[in-house]
Amino acid sequence: MLLTEIDAVDWPAIPAPPPRPRTAGAADGPPAERPDPAAGLRALAAARDLDAVTAAVAALISGSLLRAVAGEVLPGAVVAAPFLLDIAERGHPHARESAVVLLDRAMRSAPLAGFGRFRTSAGHDAPLCCAIAELVRARRDALARCGRSGAYLLQASRAHWRFDIREAFGAADEPGVVVALGVLRGGPPPPSSGGELHQAGAVTAVGAVGVECPPVDATRDACLRLSGLPAGAVGEGGLTGAVLYPAVCGDRAD
Ligand SMILES: [Zn+2]
Repeated sequence: MLLTEIDAVDWPAIPAPPPRPRTAGAADGPPAERPDPAAGLRALAAARDLDAVTAAVAALISGSLLRAVAGEVLPGAVVAAPFLLDIAERGHPHARESAVVLLDRAMRSAPLAGFGRFRTSAGHDAPLCCAIAELVRARRDALARCGRSGAYLLQASRAHWRFDIREAFGAADEPGVVVALGVLRGGPPPPSSGGELHQAGAVTAVGAVGVECPPVDATRDACLRLSGLPAGAVGEGGLTGAVLYPAVCGDRAD
């Protein structure tokens, strides 16, 4: 079933930088073949011993999902994340740990210029790390049953918080300051965080994000104070439907 789902993805359609030449002189020769994420994922899903797991991971970190030597993550890692999560939940014990490590490394690695964002189902161009963290959090219940590694991965996803704004109010006597109500996933934003606000295809820098009221129950409802917004950032429609990501992730993505 998992193998069928991996094969159903149109992997070549996922944006990816050209493969690096293997040797210094190879740049003049025929272009290197683009690594195929499906082959590595299939191998990891089917692995039944440590050697097979090691070979699959080596394939995945050498240019199809990650470029481990350079510490880089590729957009294919976002598409691969649900499959890695499946393997983390149900794969061979050695493969489970490796899938968690791959997801963790993908969230920690820097993307390449021009390949740092992924269009979410809501239409926002999220930093790759934050798009992966969102997929990790969507499996919270299953990961919580995966022992220490599952808990570790959920904890790692917290740095890639996301705030979906429901309502926002400008402070009349404080230009550039907005108090916003919405749903906070991950986080909370640490003190002195900045943010990037995504709304209707536009991205606006938010100088500082403060937590006025942290989430206290499963609804994850929270109230954040956004300051340092440029004049006119809050249009007539307010900020309803806007999404805030950590500035540190956005800066790394561009
Ligand atoms: Zn992030």
